[in-house]
Amino acid sequence: MPAPTPPDHNVDHMKFVLDLRRRGIMDAAVLRAMEEVPRERFVMPAHVHLAYLDRALPIACGQVISQPYLVAYMTEQLEVRPEHHVLEVGTGSGYQAAILSRLAARVTSIERYRTLADAARSRLRALNCDNVEIITGDGMMGAADRAPFDRIIVTAAAVTVPPALMDQLAVGGIMVLPLGPHEQHQRLVKIVRTGQGVERTELIDVRFVPLLPGQAQEL
Ligand code: SAH
Repeated sequence: MPAPTPPDHNVDHMKFVLDLRRRGIMDAAVLRAMEEVPRERFVMPAHVHLAYLDRALPIACGQVISQPYLVAYMTEQLEVRPEHHVLEVGTGSGYQAAILSRLAARVTSIERYRTLADAARSRLRALNCDNVEIITGDGMMGAADRAPFDRIIVTAAAVTVPPALMDQLAVGGIMVLPLGPHEQHQRLVKIVRTGQGVERTELIDVRFVPLLPGQAQEL
């Protein structure tokens, strides 16, 4: 009997990018990044065959890798340019950081679970994402010693904007984050810091794991 054909990630991956375009993602650089980063490397081995479906999937420490459409949408809303230094709060698998690494000069990403941070760091190293630094710690505090950031993306839900993140956003900078109660849907919000204050735009409804204070005591 012939061996079963291995799943063809290239075909799945091509369809995945076409679907993103059909659903309204227009930014060519974002689409290219989604095309170039192999999502199958960021999911658990048992879920590799699901990597190019538009689904959030479980990762270690009870967390999740976000749904790809949301990764693309949030990245598009972030309006990243090649000279930017981007802060991500909530590294998780490292997938969003890998997408950002293709668009920005430099990415700093913070994760409260050491296990996730270590795994993401080695994945990103294997993919030559050399402009990404992953820090284990409390992302609600940002990374004052690396601030200001041109762009900030938070991939876990807070009830209100963490003040430290607002302080570390450059004037003219953009922050995209889900805001709202943990047990329910949250609203994705885009904040632009102007010379005078902040402009806030509400985007789509989303569902994220909670942004929790402090570094995780468990690994
Ligand atoms: N961006 C990720 C998905 C993130 S899931 C990806 O592409 O895979 C949200 C992550 O935020 C989880 O891993 C969770 O542990 C982390 N998190 C929650 N609160 C945090 C905090 N205060 N600081 C840093 N990370 C936090």
